[in-house]
Amino acid sequence: MTRNLRVAVAGAGLGGLAAAAALVRQGLEVAVYEQRPRLVEDETALHLAPNGTRILQRWGLGTQLLALAVQPVAWEFREWSGSLTWRQPLGRMGRGAFAAPYCTLLTDELYDLLLARLPQERIRLGRRLSGFEESADGVELEFADGGSATADVLVGADGVRSLVRSRLIGTPRRVYHGTTAYSGALQADDVPGLARDRVTVWLGPDSRMVGAPVSEGEQIGFVAVVPSRSRTGGRRPLRGQPAALAADFGGWAADVKAITAAAGGIRSWTPYDHAPLKRWGSGRVTLLGDAAHPMLPYHGQGVSQCLEDAVALAHHLATAPAPEQALRRYEALRLPHTTRVQLGSRANAFRPAAVPDVTWAQVYDIEEHLAG
Ligand SMILES: Cc1cc2nc3c(=O)[nH]c(=O)nc-3n(C[C@H](O)[C@H](O)[C@H](O)COP(=O)(O)OP(=O)(O)OC[C@H]3O[C@@H](n4cnc5c(N)ncnc54)[C@H](O)[C@@H]3O)c2cc1C
Repeated sequence: MTRNLRVAVAGAGLGGLAAAAALVRQGLEVAVYEQRPRLVEDETALHLAPNGTRILQRWGLGTQLLALAVQPVAWEFREWSGSLTWRQPLGRMGRGAFAAPYCTLLTDELYDLLLARLPQERIRLGRRLSGFEESADGVELEFADGGSATADVLVGADGVRSLVRSRLIGTPRRVYHGTTAYSGALQADDVPGLARDRVTVWLGPDSRMVGAPVSEGEQIGFVAVVPSRSRTGGRRPLRGQPAALAADFGGWAADVKAITAAAGGIRSWTPYDHAPLKRWGSGRVTLLGDAAHPMLPYHGQGVSQCLEDAVALAHHLATAPAPEQALRRYEALRLPHTTRVQLGSRANAFRPAAVPDVTWAQVYDIEEHLAG
């Protein structure tokens, strides 16, 4: 038992907050250090798969989740021109192998859900980790404001450009996949023909548009992927250009054109990932979430993998005889699985118009793997 451990988490994204919630549940002491002065205000629509919602249910957040999120009845696949090609009902996700719902919600809403599980004083805003030094019995953290703190364990949940990862392992090469992505949200009333109870995917030869209901169906969150004009660029979302989006989908179905016409606050970015890492940590330091396994968006698994990481990390820290052992056990369990998700998502980057089968990731139950 490694109780009374003080765990420092760098980064209060969904990964860092999930880790903190899981650690608190195991009775561990946690401090989350976030570089930004406030938590992210982000209205991106998130698809939360059953392997993620199952964890939230076990944390006693199922009722709140279902009050906030939409449970789409189906995924509907259409040709770029609008004709229906295939329909995958999602109702069965609530039962049988999945035993948990498929949900769509706004990023902000998931933040609020996780924050409800965390005493506020555990989160220290405006504290950018600038370095760390490990000793035999702990980790000394240094911050950009000149301050410092000590902890028994450091978890780098500091995102795709992780400082913790760069100090541990170096900076992996970014791999671009020749696509540009756009995301945004709009009022569902602006696309009156679009059903509000399902996710709709329009597939063109090399592009796709996905519209998902959020906010009780009052809004549509969309993500569009088109061939990129360049193979470099940032992953940080940039302000999108409505005219470029509209031009990319000019000849498409009327509902797609209505989405591009009504979309406000569009963001665009150039998705990239890294080759899967060979290791995530050493000594009393490890990685979690996008810092450990940045992935392309084609499997809708980024957040669910964060939640699984969080459960595994907290379990091992609470049960292993020593922190170093706990972290290596956590990494040994998680790295092969997240590698598979990363590579699966990457395989889809070359076939943006294909529909991936992600069932194997959605049925994965982290608790079963911890018990086994
Ligand atoms: C447009 C878009 C749509 C997506 N849609 C989906 C989806 O539908 N379903 C899904 O599952 N996933 C989706 N994802 C992926 C998902 O959002 C990410 O996988 C997930 O949010 C990663 O969380 P994270 O906490 O690991 O990283 P981040 O969200 O990047 O959080 C890292 C945090 O660390 C902080 N930080 C960085 N450096 C430091 C430092 N030195 N000191 C202190 N703090 C630091 C940052 O400020 C940030 O708050 C999407 C991503 C994008 C961009």
